[in-house]
Amino acid sequence: MDREAKNEKEENDREREKGVAAMVACYQGFDPAAYLQYNYMPPRADFDRQDSIVPWKLGCLHRAFTEGDVGGDVLVDVGSGPTLYQVLSGCEVFDTVFLTDFLEVNRQELRRWLQGEGYSGLDWTPYLQHVCKLEGRRPSAWTEKAARLRSVVSDILPIDVHLPRPLHPDSQLPTAGADCLVSCFCLESVSPDLASFTRALGHIRGLLRPGGHLLLIGALGESYYMGGPGVRIPVVPLDEAQVCASVRASGYTLVRLEVYTLPKGMMVGVDDVTGVFFVKARKP
Ligand code: SAM
Repeated sequence: MDREAKNEKEENDREREKGVAAMVACYQGFDPAAYLQYNYMPPRADFDRQDSIVPWKLGCLHRAFTEGDVGGDVLVDVGSGPTLYQVLSGCEVFDTVFLTDFLEVNRQELRRWLQGEGYSGLDWTPYLQHVCKLEGRRPSAWTEKAARLRSVVSDILPIDVHLPRPLHPDSQLPTAGADCLVSCFCLESVSPDLASFTRALGHIRGLLRPGGHLLLIGALGESYYMGGPGVRIPVVPLDEAQVCASVRASGYTLVRLEVYTLPKGMMVGVDDVTGVFFVKARKP
């Protein structure tokens, strides 16, 4: 590499580090209880409404986990935040589930639920009941699902998707990698730009075994979301073509993309999201 190219690369690396550091600073004010109230209560989580956002996400995950091609032992959820909805279908397929998040406050929130200490911000019962219904079980089976989830979550780990190895080497993940990754609303909302989003997709690819699946849900057209009162977190505004290009550029085979367009009633003033994507992809 000639001197000019080397200087340019160093400058780009410095800029990237600054961008990532700015995102870390934004997350210091993240408030799990407020985030849950903003996004995981009606109208966004209205199980009686066909066009509500949460039932759409749960439907995508239910279909993906019951099509028959996603399987194995280990499921890793990347950037779990304080939420559990994203593993309610997967916990029936995988005997070992790792939840992960960058922030201790979120890991603590998850630990509290798993240890049966209740919740600070949300009752997951309607979610458990809804997924039981999708599975053709009676809604009262939700207690069995809750017990199943508590029994398969083997750890709640710190993660940083901006590192080439996002999990600590001491984590109990099999060396060959997980059989499946789920990640919802994480990568675009922790990356300063599209290049970082694509790079993060590549980093988490290292956690997946060859042949394993990635189930990715995220925001379309979003430039910010509120992580708590007065906590405005910037987001990379993505369109469908960029999502597909980034997934392919980071070494996955795209199986399918599904898109949900937000109806007016779902715009509740806590972000400027216009749609949601669901990607099913595979590591060759
Ligand atoms: N998965 C949850 C959901 O579906 O609502 C939470 C998504 S929330 C928008 C983004 C999450 O990314 C937060 O929980 C935050 O703590 C986490 N996060 C922030 N920086 C991160 C990083 N560098 N690596 C991994 N996760 C990060």
